[in-house]
Amino acid sequence: MTQISPRHPRYASLRRRAGLAESFRSGLVVPEGLLAHGRGEAFDYLLGERTTASARRAARIAADWIRRARHPVLSVNGNVAALAAPEIAELVRLLPTLRVEVNLFHRTPARARAIAQRLRAAGVPDVLGVTPTARLPGLPSDRARIDRRGLGEADLAIIPLEDGDRAEALQRHGVRIIAIDLNPLSRTAQRADLALVDDLNRALQRIAQEVRRRSRRPLPARAPPSFDAPGAALEEIQRRLVRLSSSERRRVRSGVRSPARSSGRPR
Ligand code: ATP
Repeated sequence: MTQISPRHPRYASLRRRAGLAESFRSGLVVPEGLLAHGRGEAFDYLLGERTTASARRAARIAADWIRRARHPVLSVNGNVAALAAPEIAELVRLLPTLRVEVNLFHRTPARARAIAQRLRAAGVPDVLGVTPTARLPGLPSDRARIDRRGLGEADLAIIPLEDGDRAEALQRHGVRIIAIDLNPLSRTAQRADLALVDDLNRALQRIAQEVRRRSRRPLPARAPPSFDAPGAALEEIQRRLVRLSSSERRRVRSGVRSPARSSGRPR
C-alpha cells in the first residue's frame, strides 16, 4: 500500500483512499465504488468530518429499532466490506439477531465470494447472499437478487451506501429502511424511514456504542419515531457554511490555522 505519513493533515482520509484503491485492485471494489466514495467525501467535508447532532440522534433511534426488530439485516456491498468489516463484525457480536447479506449492484460470483471472505476474516460468522435465492419484485437486473433467509424475510434493513431504486424496492417489500449515506440529498437518504447522514465507519461505531449503552435496559415499549434527518443535516451544513464563510475565512486570511485542520483529525 502507498506510504502515507501520519503527519499528513489528511492522514485518515488518505489511508482510507489507499485501502479502497487496494480493494479495487483486488477486485472487491468496482470503479463506480471509488466514485461513490468521492461523492461521500465531498459531503463529509461540508458536514465538518464529524458526527453531527442529528446523526447522533438518528443513531440512538437506529439502535432501538434494530434491537426491537424481529429479523434485522445489514446489507453489504464492496465499499462497505472494504471500509468497515471490523465494525460490522462488532455489531453482529453485540446483536446476534442481526444477519449480514452481500448485495451487489455489479455482481459476479467471485466478487460476492471475496466480500464474504473479507467479512468472515473480520469475524462475521455467517454471511448470506453469496448465492442469492430470491428476487425483489419491481427491480431489473442483478440488483434484485437477494437471499430468502436474509432480506427475503427482513422486517428491517440497514442499507449503507445504497442506491435509491433498491431502497424503494425494499420498502415496497415491506422492509423498514435505515440508510447510512453522507449525501442528505440522495434518493436513498430521502426515502429511508431513518437516515444516518454520516460517514459509514463513524455511523456503525455510533450505533454499536448506543446498543452497548442500552444492553442492560429493557426494550422500549414502542419504537421511537423517526425524524427528518436529511433536512436536519442540510440545516447543519447550512449553518456551518455560513459560519465558515465569515469567521474561518478571516482566520485563514490572517494566517491562523483552525485547530481541526492543524491536528488533521476528523471533527
Ligand atoms: P441515490 O440513488 O440514492 O440518489 P446515488 O446515485 O448517490 O444515490 P450511489 O452512488 O450508489 O447512489 O450511492 C453511494 C452513496 O453513498 C452516495 O450518496 C455517497 O454520498 C454515499 N457514500 C459514499 N461513501 C460513503 C461513506 N464512506 N460513508 C457514508 N456514505 C458514503
